[in-house]
Amino acid sequence: MPSREAGGEGSPTGPGDEHATCDDLLSFIRESPTPFHAVQSAVDRLHAAGFSALTPQASWRSLAPGGYYVCVGDSTLVAFVLPQKDPRIELHGFRIIGAHTDSPNLRLKPKAAYEKQGYVQLGVEVYGGALLNSWLDRDLYIAGRVIVRGSDGGLQRRLVKLADPLIRVAQLAIHLDREINDKGLLLNRQEHLAPIVGLLGGSSSRATGKGSTDGGSATAESLFSGLLARALDVAPEAIVSTDLMLADSLSPRRGGLGEELIFAPRLDNLGMCHAALHALLRTATRPTEIGVVPVIALFDHEEVGSNSAYGAQAPILPMLLERIAAATTQDGDRRERYLRLLSGSLCVSADMAHAVHPNYADRHEPQHRPHLNGGPVIKHNAQQRYATCGRTAALFAELCARAAVPVQHYVHRTDLPCGSTIGPITATLLAMPTVDVGSAMLSMHSARECAGARDPELMTRVMMQFLQHAGELPS
Ligand code: ZN
Repeated sequence: MPSREAGGEGSPTGPGDEHATCDDLLSFIRESPTPFHAVQSAVDRLHAAGFSALTPQASWRSLAPGGYYVCVGDSTLVAFVLPQKDPRIELHGFRIIGAHTDSPNLRLKPKAAYEKQGYVQLGVEVYGGALLNSWLDRDLYIAGRVIVRGSDGGLQRRLVKLADPLIRVAQLAIHLDREINDKGLLLNRQEHLAPIVGLLGGSSSRATGKGSTDGGSATAESLFSGLLARALDVAPEAIVSTDLMLADSLSPRRGGLGEELIFAPRLDNLGMCHAALHALLRTATRPTEIGVVPVIALFDHEEVGSNSAYGAQAPILPMLLERIAAATTQDGDRRERYLRLLSGSLCVSADMAHAVHPNYADRHEPQHRPHLNGGPVIKHNAQQRYATCGRTAALFAELCARAAVPVQHYVHRTDLPCGSTIGPITATLLAMPTVDVGSAMLSMHSARECAGARDPELMTRVMMQFLQHAGELPS
């Protein structure tokens, strides 16, 4: 198990547990610059803990009790523990935690490389609701997925982290934009966000692989495809297509007076992916005691509305849950069994929450101001932008109490439009009672965000309670 067992049920967390879980989260974020890498990092941990890979194409009949995972595309993952036969499963069904693997960022266009004013630059699109200013003057690198043609002529998918060279979206000097500090920064998405990779005449052996300076005949396109090909150890002609994006090269780390803070990219929502994953890994150490089927679902494309073959709007969960239900029985009406299991099931939608910001406290609802390291936050919204209701909130608060973890509540200011999560989407697809929760954070959707270092362990412990909760909602 990559994560050791925390203190016993209901015992307060110790600093050792909190440090270990926080440090493991920082490693997970470091390993995962893109949703593709996040799924791969999760698979590595599941595999190390003895979980078995399933494919959608294979037969899932007669699965033995144990841990399983299935990747949907390369950026969405569903993992579950099939427990021993237990009559309680008929009553309580699935315990599902949903989160998302994607984060707002800048993504390379297919024909990205071009030359302008002697610079080699890359055309980018904005993915999701990124805070654009946070991508300026930052040392960035390129990562993602590349489809290459193998030596056998077939197409292969490869993940890549192009740690070298570092690239940069350079901000305009204040001398050329005198009003910026008074009137604010205005960025045109087409014109102002293209990173500089280098100088066209300044490419070295790194790009050309020829051991000498060679800017003469090289184009921006050939220099960039050469870089990518060398990183993948293939010929430039073998590169067929790419899904590449930019990532911050500065490592995730702790900060604050007592290292009580985390400064890191992609906390929204790798923070919740990590907590869900480790709650499942800990749960898997005692499968005989589980009277429910614990499931985690980590979806791509939440930041752009979840409408895709890999997003939460796709019927991924209904299809996979039905197959899991069928795998728990040898006989009888499998469809009937699935629908019965579904009727007793519950979902936690886990997505990071807004902590009160000391410089902008008036942007927060006065009665609902969560704090960093204050424990899990239950998110409420009357318009159902969050799927929480009084019954699911009561259950989650009860689970926090059992785990000896404090709980907080969040409501958006009524005069500001509220964000949303996958919670209302999966609740609608499955007709499943759902609670929206998250750990408190600052700088949401910045290239570099901030959260509390204690909260990862606190959230993981409550999620573990949930994944093993063979009980009902308050009736
Ligand atoms: Zn999110």
